[in-house]
Amino acid sequence: MEPSLTYPAPSELLEEFEDLETAEERIQFLIELGQSLPDFPSEYCTEEFRVVGCQSMVWIVPQWDGELFHFRASSDAPMVRGLAGVLLSAYSGKSPRDILEFSVDEFFEKLHLKTFLSPLRSNGLNSMVKRIRHYADTELVSDGTVSPSVKTPAPEAAQDLGSIQDRIQSIRDEFPILSVKNGEGEQIAYLDNAASSQRPRAVIESISELFSEHYSNVHRSGHAWASETTIKMEESREAVRRFIHAPSADEVIFTAGTTASINLVACAWGNSNLQPGDEIVITEMEHHSNIVPWQQLSQRTGCRIVWVPILPDYTLDMKSYADSLSERTKLVAITAVSNVLGTINPVKSMTAMAHQVGAKVLVDAAQAIPHGSLDVQDWDADFVVFSGHKMLASSGVGVLYGKRSLLESMPAWQGGGSMIKAVTFDGFTVADLPHKFEAGTPPIAEIISLSPAIEFLESIGKQRLMEHERMLVGTAMVGLSKLDGVRTYSPALEQKCGILSFSVDGIHGEEIARVLDGRGIAIRVGHHCAMPLHARLAVPVTCRASFYLYNTLDEVSRLVESVSHAIKLLRR
Ligand code: PLP
Repeated sequence: MEPSLTYPAPSELLEEFEDLETAEERIQFLIELGQSLPDFPSEYCTEEFRVVGCQSMVWIVPQWDGELFHFRASSDAPMVRGLAGVLLSAYSGKSPRDILEFSVDEFFEKLHLKTFLSPLRSNGLNSMVKRIRHYADTELVSDGTVSPSVKTPAPEAAQDLGSIQDRIQSIRDEFPILSVKNGEGEQIAYLDNAASSQRPRAVIESISELFSEHYSNVHRSGHAWASETTIKMEESREAVRRFIHAPSADEVIFTAGTTASINLVACAWGNSNLQPGDEIVITEMEHHSNIVPWQQLSQRTGCRIVWVPILPDYTLDMKSYADSLSERTKLVAITAVSNVLGTINPVKSMTAMAHQVGAKVLVDAAQAIPHGSLDVQDWDADFVVFSGHKMLASSGVGVLYGKRSLLESMPAWQGGGSMIKAVTFDGFTVADLPHKFEAGTPPIAEIISLSPAIEFLESIGKQRLMEHERMLVGTAMVGLSKLDGVRTYSPALEQKCGILSFSVDGIHGEEIARVLDGRGIAIRVGHHCAMPLHARLAVPVTCRASFYLYNTLDEVSRLVESVSHAIKLLRR
């Protein structure tokens, strides 16, 4: 055993707790206990050691010396780290039998834990107890032989969970909606993920727990539910900050979605920074959300839109992009990933080029964020925007990341409650970031759902997700291109994510989609809010299949076989 894995004995904790009278004193004690725990290497913060059922992130790592269990534990919430400390005191350094026989309820009772812990925190504590008992149970069952899952793995080995394909069923089991069948008894193959993803159980439960256990408005009232809800919301902001690697949570503004975030920038930054003669550079592969707000800004200010074309291989024409930049360019607004072509754009180098002429850069990451964490500092982008509903979280919430200096220099956009420091008969003063841009009651439940969605995506891992999507989309590309009259609109596999648009010569996309729908296959058909791109592709509508972490090769086969069936049926 590592000498550092020693904790106060239960009797010592009880003695110290006895002197504490108020809830505040107990919370303070727990926080200090958490701070005194041995270091927890970040390599152990993996899905393997994460305790499911806790609102905050909690990890427990067992170590078995052949006779006794020793545990390490940590959490991203200071008080919960203290609660983990209580459990380490109770369970670490004990045999499996002692662990299973320890009367934990009595211990909690004596510590008065149940009287001041919220139901959510109590559930989390019970989940931690269950996890520790599970380790002990496994050890007893294995009759003295150490089960591989119980040995403390090397931190590097702990991360290797295998490919998504290897555990696809257990991933699908986390999404209740995926077991729904259509009227014909067909399992729905949901291939419309670029429009909106489905939600894992943890996201659904976070919303239902909020409304059934402690809902209140945020940043207002002083009662327990109000502070719990506010803490949850701010934990979500911190989760977003971590996921996009923003320097500060103050730079993470919650909005209603990508569209709302872009409109905020177009109004708050654009109105006061653009004038006639200035230029905004956008690309032909933008979503209407990243076109129309700039066209409106152009109508308001007289600035001009400059379009970067796409090449025949469905990537951006980087030479034209370079040529389009000049001292007149005030903003470059680009999508990180095309919602029609699936093309992944070179955001980092495009941003560096824009900065050389003094332009600001807004990155539309609506189709990038579903595929895993991103690094706003590495991109060096000035603004990054995205929506929750495409990344496993609820609809109705989105994010605007902005560099602090820019956000501070911009006037507040919408006025109302929460965005002010003070209001007098003569005027108002604006609140600090991030509240300055969050007027009114925010979408509380929707914001809170971002945290479990991020945890889910983190547990899958960006690399694995991209490999899985490319396997699916690559198989679909090969299968569909073999069919008579099918055209795919796609760059090479290594330049794209799991989005594939196609059309069939002589058959309207609506008809193809209707046949597929009858066979339980959900795709999208239309211009996908990218009419300029479709004009460039010279096709009015395309069918779009978009794959995600829970899709299977079997669903790809069903798609290809059903498109083939539709072509035969509709050509008769
Ligand atoms: N940008 C891109 C690239 C998109 O794909 C979408 C949605 O499909 C949006 C912006 C708009 O997102 P929302 O409707 O969530 O505001």
